[in-house]
Amino acid sequence: MAFNFFTKDMGIDLGTANTLIYIKDQGIVLNEPTVIAVDNRNGNVVATGAPAKEMIGKAPAVLSVVRPLKDGVISDFDMTAEMLKQFITRAVNEKKLSLRVVVGVPSGVTEVEKRAVEEVVRQMGAKEVYILDEPMAAAIGAGLDVDSSSASMVADIGGGTSDIAIVALGGIVTSTSLRYAGDRFNDAVLQYMRKKYGLLIGEKTAENLKIEIGCAIVDKDEKGKPILETAHASGRDAVSGLPKTIEVTNQDMEEALRESMDMVVDAIKGTIEKAPPEVAADIAEHGMVLSGGGGLIKNLDKLIEQKTGMEVSVAENAFEAVALGTGKSLEDVEKLKLYAKAKYR
Ligand code: ADP
Ligand code: MG
Repeated sequence: MAFNFFTKDMGIDLGTANTLIYIKDQGIVLNEPTVIAVDNRNGNVVATGAPAKEMIGKAPAVLSVVRPLKDGVISDFDMTAEMLKQFITRAVNEKKLSLRVVVGVPSGVTEVEKRAVEEVVRQMGAKEVYILDEPMAAAIGAGLDVDSSSASMVADIGGGTSDIAIVALGGIVTSTSLRYAGDRFNDAVLQYMRKKYGLLIGEKTAENLKIEIGCAIVDKDEKGKPILETAHASGRDAVSGLPKTIEVTNQDMEEALRESMDMVVDAIKGTIEKAPPEVAADIAEHGMVLSGGGGLIKNLDKLIEQKTGMEVSVAENAFEAVALGTGKSLEDVEKLKLYAKAKYR
């Protein structure tokens, strides 16, 4: 049909930390922090995405820098809508467009919020909108055969939530959505620095330390000696209040992140325990896949292997798995309709 020429298939990963937009035949066209900055005096949007994230912790009082999704739920709907509008406009230049959109939303999002997200996307010109649970999208994007009768398992560790799911026959068999992920890992680093070194650091510094030298297990050399890595942490001395920079190691990070890593491991164990025995047997055979930015914590895969005996791999495109999954799901709309309906048990 002629008008189909202007139809665009779009997948959106509305993540707590990052929003990605995928367009069929183009791939991922946008990857921005889920952040928006507004001027309180007139309500104007000052920035969205990366430039808005830069303002966190530094913005003058007249500006509100908002992360509109928190702990996997939409905490500020109007801001989410405003931000999404800007992102979609940036991703597609054409004015008159018929969009078919799949949105991957955190699994903690309520039915009401799902409808609200759908409404925003419709206002942007979408004719068809499907809301897909993130773990399903992550599993598809990570290349798992979600339609197989043999179950597979995915843990998508993002900023706000760790979504763990076992999928089979096009649906989610068992899942756990833990409101504990990358943001909390940052917080753990921040608290550790204060307690151990009397150093007050900001959220961004904590995140940088985590990304740079964070690990679930410190690597060892052939003789079993820990391979040390270091980084500088700058902040304020808790006592003097003056600026201070210290050197921290990956051993510090392992200690700082221990409880957080245990939380994730326990949630994974718990999810397997909830699954029927046959499903557990499939998982033992296939192992599990990690996705999301939090899945990139060094040696988290190894830690999960040690604690569960399962084989664990990190998705090749861990950051993009959900976005790619939403995009891939558009290739077969009839199937997508089933996926989008499949509810958590
Ligand atoms: P969401 O789906 O919630 O938007 P993402 O999958 O984009 O989240 O992951 C964001 C989280 O991943 C953040 O907490 C960020 O600090 C963390 N992260 C990014 N890169 C790394 C890395 N190399 N190691 C550990 N954590 C990382
Ligand atoms: Mg995500």
